[in-house]
Amino acid sequence: MTDTIAATAPIALDRYDPVIVSWSGGDDSTACLAYILSQVPASRVKAVWCDTGAEHPETYGYIWRMVDAVLPRDLEVLCVRGETVYGESLEAGIRRRGQWPGAKARYCTKHLKTIPTARLVRRRAWWGGVLVLGQRRAESAHRARLAPFNAVGACGIPTWRPLLDWTKDDVLAQIARQGWPRNPVYAYQTRGGNCMVCIMARPAEIVRTARRHPDQIARWAALEAEIGHTWGSRKGHSIANFLATARSQAFLPRLAPGDLDGEDAAHEGCDSGFCEMG
Ligand code: SF4
Repeated sequence: MTDTIAATAPIALDRYDPVIVSWSGGDDSTACLAYILSQVPASRVKAVWCDTGAEHPETYGYIWRMVDAVLPRDLEVLCVRGETVYGESLEAGIRRRGQWPGAKARYCTKHLKTIPTARLVRRRAWWGGVLVLGQRRAESAHRARLAPFNAVGACGIPTWRPLLDWTKDDVLAQIARQGWPRNPVYAYQTRGGNCMVCIMARPAEIVRTARRHPDQIARWAALEAEIGHTWGSRKGHSIANFLATARSQAFLPRLAPGDLDGEDAAHEGCDSGFCEMG
C-alpha cells in the first residue's frame, strides 16, 4: 500500500468483491487502477479493458507492456472485445449500419464497452462487486454533475468514481507514484484511451493521428468511401479530409499543454466513463 491522493466520497472497499476497474489505457483510468491497487490487494481487483479494434497502436503496445511487465502478477486483466462478446468491432459496426456513430447515436460505446462489460459481470457472476470508473469533474460539464456513487450502475452493480475531484496533476502524480509509465499516445494526443477515429474527438486530434499513422487512417477513409457516409458528416467533416490535411503538412508541430483547447468546444469527449478522454 502506498500514500495516495484522497478519493472522492470514499466507500468501504472491503465490502465489495471483486473491485472492477474499467481500464482504457488513458491517464485517468490508469490512475484509477493505480489508486485501487494502492488500497486493495491485487488479487481482489479485476481490470477490464475493452478493445474496440480501433485503439491507437501506442495503446495496444502500452496495454501489453503493462500486462507483461508492470502490473502485479496476481491482478487479473480481462480483455473484452466487442467482436467476440457482442458480435462486431467498431469498423464492422459502421460497415453493417452504413453510417458512423455520432454524439446523439453513440452506439459504439454501448455495444463495444458498456454491454460487453455488463455481460462479463453477468458471466462471472460478480454481483458482490463494484465497478470503478476514472471520470473527473474537470473534464466536462456532464462529468461535473456526476454522482460519486450509484447503487446500481450501467452494469447492474454499484459504480464508484473516486477520481471525480482530482486534477490532471493528481492523475499524473498517482501514475508516477506507482512507478508506472504513461501511455506513449500522449506524445501526440492530449486525450488517450479512446479510438483513433473517435467520433467524440476534435478534428485536430484525428489530423495528428493521421500524421502519425497515415496508413491506418487511410483504412478508415476507405471505409467512408465504401459506405458513402463520413465521420462528422453533419458538420461537413470526413476522415479523408483529415488525412489530406495531415499529408499536406510536412512536419509535426510540437504539442503543448492546452494546444487543442478551444478548437471545437463541442467536442468534450465521451462521457460514458468507459471511453476515456483525459
Ligand atoms: S472512444 Fe469514441 S468511437 Fe470509440 S467507442 Fe468510445 S465514443 Fe465510440
